[in-house]
Amino acid sequence: MKMIDFKEKFITKKVLCSLVGHKFIVTRNITNHFKEFKCTVCQIELTNDDNGHKTFLTPELKEINETLRGFHNKKLHLV
Ligand SMILES: [Zn+2]
Repeated sequence: MKMIDFKEKFITKKVLCSLVGHKFIVTRNITNHFKEFKCTVCQIELTNDDNGHKTFLTPELKEINETLRGFHNKKLHLV
């Protein structure tokens, strides 16, 4: 455990992520295909595109996801 203390003191979280990889959790399900992810270490936010690739969650994409989610929820309620 001492090694972890050392890392937290001397390496910033972003550098740690670039070394060991991000630890993503799903923060929101937009539709069955679109999700939003967040790294629990450096708090970076991602979403996935049409091809399932992860991409940075820009304010524009966040807005698109919001619209998609509203649309999706409405559709679910109608069915
Ligand atoms: Zn990270």
